[in-house]
Amino acid sequence: MSAVPLRNDRPAGNGPRAVTVLGATGSIGDSTMDLLRLAPERYRVEALTAHSNVAALAKLAREFNARFAAIADPARLDELRDALGGSGIACGAGDSAIIEAAARPADWLMAAVSGAAGLKPALAAVDRGATIALANKECLVCAGDLFMQRAVDAGACILPADSEHNALFQALGSGNRAELTRVIITASGGPFRTWTAADIEQATLEQALKHPNWSMGQKITIDSASMMNKGLEVIEAAYLFALDPDQIDVLVHPQSIVHGLVEFADRSVVAQLGAPDMRIPIAHCLGWPERIVGPSVRLDLAKIGQLTFETPDFERFPGLRLAFEALRTGQGATTVFNAANEVAVAAFIARQIRFGAIARLVEATLEHWIAGGHLAPLTSADDAIAVDHDARRLAASLLPQIAAKAF
Ligand code: NAD
Ligand code: MG
Repeated sequence: MSAVPLRNDRPAGNGPRAVTVLGATGSIGDSTMDLLRLAPERYRVEALTAHSNVAALAKLAREFNARFAAIADPARLDELRDALGGSGIACGAGDSAIIEAAARPADWLMAAVSGAAGLKPALAAVDRGATIALANKECLVCAGDLFMQRAVDAGACILPADSEHNALFQALGSGNRAELTRVIITASGGPFRTWTAADIEQATLEQALKHPNWSMGQKITIDSASMMNKGLEVIEAAYLFALDPDQIDVLVHPQSIVHGLVEFADRSVVAQLGAPDMRIPIAHCLGWPERIVGPSVRLDLAKIGQLTFETPDFERFPGLRLAFEALRTGQGATTVFNAANEVAVAAFIARQIRFGAIARLVEATLEHWIAGGHLAPLTSADDAIAVDHDARRLAASLLPQIAAKAF
């Protein structure tokens, strides 16, 4: 039994669909609101949330006449109340308000908070059996088994919104689970695809933020440059589709046109293609089980001319190797992998460590965690959150020595 539907097996409902967007002011949130704007008669917005940008949240809440708006920063409740004055839109602040937004009745919910902070709100939607477009990969990396089991128990439906996983989701419909032999997710290779290890080591924040194909939030853009994002996505794929690490391959594909491929027993390989525009996978999730009209450009393969593929380099991009290792280790190791990476990326953004030190901090944190005998199965969301917190503390304590080490 899987929470990710393998066939288009749910009947479409009638009337406007109530939708909620967690992380409405972010990059995925923006793409989602863009799609909702295209067909206002089809959707009614139940709740919208953001971290601290009150003005942007209030503007969206008013535009879409949301019933509820929540800001994560508890100090901004009065500001939000003022910004929504006279609109009749209810509001709240703090983590509990984000969870309340997720728990409110909406048929469809976009989970697009960034980082592990998205776990509890997404679980609140899972527990009420919602249909969830899942962009927040950290939910699965931090607590994949638990998250998917809770979804099965509650009858929630998880629609993969990450482009590669959405591609796999679409391609998987060509066969059944017993016939599946392998999945392949593609990676653009990021801005440092052709750089030497020495140059990658010294890469600046500005260089890391220049993604060749995708326009995304800051954290995921840096993760793409380090290929940690692909590591997170390997883990995400394993939990979403209940795959062994050996069934998952990564292929570097600089054009970002083929997003994911599924190989079946007869050696047929079914792929999904599209322009690198997150509105395509999000539109698939929003319309599912139907297809809706999307605003993205049509794919012109003749104009693109060439699609190329390369084997990823685990030496220059150790994050990918570490992700597979964490996945094989299990027992909270992927939670530690994610937490250490979040600490490392924040330190890189704060210019406390070099780019090359991101993977070194993740590796050192994993090594210390395992050597300390902390590996154990995660049995609850609080368990996962406790591991996340402890791993962050460990990573922060290792940070000075990693930062000081010359390379
Ligand atoms: P972003 O930084 O642009 O936006 C994040 C959103 O979450 C914002 O609305 C922000 O206000 C909110 N937020 C941040 N921290 C929060 C907190 N502690 N509590 C409550 N809300 C908080 O990020 P993004 O690029 O839109 O990515 C969102 C998620 O989707 C991430 O997990 C990312 O890995 C995933 N994803 C993004 C893309 C992409 O193209 N941007 C593609 C695939 C998957
Ligand atoms: Mg992706």
